[in-house]
Amino acid sequence: MKKRGSFVISLDYEIHWGVFDALSLDTYGENLKNVNLVIDRLLSLCDKYQVKITFATVGMLFAGSKSTLEKYNPIEIPSYDNQKLNPFKLMSNVGVDEQNDRLHFAKSTLQKIKQNGLHEIGTHTYSHYNCLASGQTLAQFKADIIAAKEIVKPMDINVESIVFPKNQVNDDYLKVCYDNGIKSYRGTEKSAIYNTKSSPLKKKLVPLIRLGRLMDGYFNLTGHNTYNVEKLNADAAIVNLPSSRFLRPYHSKLSFLEPLKVTRITKSMKHAAKNNELFHLWWHPHNFGANMDENFKNLEQIFKAFTHLKESHNFESKTMTELTLDILNK
Ligand SMILES: [Zn+2]
Repeated sequence: MKKRGSFVISLDYEIHWGVFDALSLDTYGENLKNVNLVIDRLLSLCDKYQVKITFATVGMLFAGSKSTLEKYNPIEIPSYDNQKLNPFKLMSNVGVDEQNDRLHFAKSTLQKIKQNGLHEIGTHTYSHYNCLASGQTLAQFKADIIAAKEIVKPMDINVESIVFPKNQVNDDYLKVCYDNGIKSYRGTEKSAIYNTKSSPLKKKLVPLIRLGRLMDGYFNLTGHNTYNVEKLNADAAIVNLPSSRFLRPYHSKLSFLEPLKVTRITKSMKHAAKNNELFHLWWHPHNFGANMDENFKNLEQIFKAFTHLKESHNFESKTMTELTLDILNK
């Protein structure tokens, strides 16, 4: 593999399936309703700067109708202790098809992404599966992944990468992914504030951890979080392409800090480009659903920085699977 830095973007594409347990439609509906518009703008900005994205997509979004969804639902559904996490309870509220329910179906938008040709479509599990939640089992996760692979087949897509919902990486589940043809996943940053495994002590520290993550978005508290991916995955069966940074949505109350947020990202990109490392940026399309112009302004600055680094250091935009194949075939 040629020595050069890589710029990977993965988006957790989920619409309502990703937030139904945490956010209400009253407070977050605008963000969700604008996701299709966000994707249109993303595709044209990516075309302009030739930046590739891995759309890690919730399997349920591939259905064009409720009857299709019911056909592909997994044979076993997760038996979470906390039933608030169970998306299958939403089925009675799901509309008849995509035209009537843009919060739960996105087949036509996914077709647009596929036809564009620049990007990868990966999985965010079939049902936005909580891999570290208590009550669910490995067999239920396996049924979910099989459903995620099946529902994309009519669109002639082969899912080869995964982003775990809520970044809950369950090491025992990686083999299930591998056995089902998934070659890479997005791990978390090294710093303890990004570890998603819970403990009683950590539960008490949640406000502090959140504050730490917020501050780290503007100021360099945890380093660049860029990676020598060949070294990191020397013996791995399934490749880990860890996150470098979550692109926080525009924050109107902290708008004076927005330039710091962008600079924090572009400096780390430069570090990756100079050291032939990976810089892996992620967010959710719904994060851009409000304050769209401000969010796209930030993204365009990041893409401009990428263009400079491409010229100066051969920094390269890659999908998760493209980078994975480079590592595996080195
Ligand atoms: Zn998610």
